[in-house]
Amino acid sequence: MKIHRNASLKNFNTFNVDEKAEILFEIDNIKDLSNILSKENKKDEILVLGGGSNILFTKPYKGIIINLKNKGVKIIQEDENSVLVEVSAGENWHDFVLWAVQNGFGGVENLSLIPGNIGAAPIQNIGAYGVELKDIFYSCKGLMLDSFNEFELKKSECKFEYRSSIFKSKLKGKTIITSVQLILTKSKHNFNIDYKDLRDNLSNTKLTVKKISDEIIKIRQSKLPDPKSIGNCGSFFKNPIVNISKYISLLEKYPDIQAYKLNDSNYKISAAWLIDKSGFKEKKEKNVGVYSNQPLVIINYGNASGKELHSFANHVKGTIFNNYEIKLEEEVLII
Ligand SMILES: Cc1cc2nc3c(=O)[nH]c(=O)nc-3n(C[C@H](O)[C@H](O)[C@H](O)COP(=O)(O)OP(=O)(O)OC[C@H]3O[C@@H](n4cnc5c(N)ncnc54)[C@H](O)[C@@H]3O)c2cc1C
Repeated sequence: MKIHRNASLKNFNTFNVDEKAEILFEIDNIKDLSNILSKENKKDEILVLGGGSNILFTKPYKGIIINLKNKGVKIIQEDENSVLVEVSAGENWHDFVLWAVQNGFGGVENLSLIPGNIGAAPIQNIGAYGVELKDIFYSCKGLMLDSFNEFELKKSECKFEYRSSIFKSKLKGKTIITSVQLILTKSKHNFNIDYKDLRDNLSNTKLTVKKISDEIIKIRQSKLPDPKSIGNCGSFFKNPIVNISKYISLLEKYPDIQAYKLNDSNYKISAAWLIDKSGFKEKKEKNVGVYSNQPLVIINYGNASGKELHSFANHVKGTIFNNYEIKLEEEVLII
């Protein structure tokens, strides 16, 4: 365990924002958790941090930050078709995907190269290329921050939705997830190449878990900025969901609007399209801007503060509301 007081968070968030934390614990053994929590006794001000790839610090954090680094990947049950795997929260998500791919286990290949740690994956039900965590999720274990009681929540209890879960609503800020259990396929893989880019490049080949993962890595590297060289948190906003009458009125005004039918009543509008059409394509204001290949990604060109990034994001949000009467919702947690 490492303890940092008045610690710089610059290397703990992928926006590379240089805010401070009053106390930061880097914890590799979860047995240390209850000790720290009871000693420090500041339960209301605890923030659990993974890889910092979905969080924007706009001010110094007054309180305890717990950065979980516990490691371990274990197969805990197996039959001829599937494996149940328990992964510690501090494992890097993409390293785990590579482990699954190497072993020929299916289910997470479409989620290749998503930054961050396993422990954060259930928080927003990470998703990409037609697959979401919920599709392979079995349960997660952890501690309640108020009582330090252990919990295990099964899939149906996690209330997974598009980029959301019970950990963003009723249990927001109330838990530390210490491990996640996922069910992966060993045979009869359920490959998903519905996305155009994937279909175009893979439809004439014999699909394998590795081929899909490799293709997704290639596509993502061509479209998204690598946080190691350009500070960002991926998509800053969620794609807004509107009802059918709103969708029809938008379609009448903007025949080229990009949207996906979710069901008979609702459509998901492409936030990237809204941002692009509102004049933000490659927009740069001082240290902050919109990424050229993907307008949903707000980037830190260098030394932007969290406040600058947030105020730029608010400017985008306000403009979209004025233009389309659609309120964008942040995907990134703002602190
Ligand atoms: C380039 C780029 C591309 C991305 N692409 C995608 C994508 O395709 N799909 C997608 O869904 N996301 C994407 N993201 C967002 C991000 O990678 C995911 O949300 C990821 O799961 C965040 O993991 P993290 O460990 O960095 O979480 P953090 O940013 O550290 O934390 C995010 C939230 O989870 C909470 N949290 C973290 N760990 C725990 C824990 N152990 N217990 C309880 N709460 C916890 C935090 O308190 C916070 O609320 C992208 C980000 C980047 C930078």
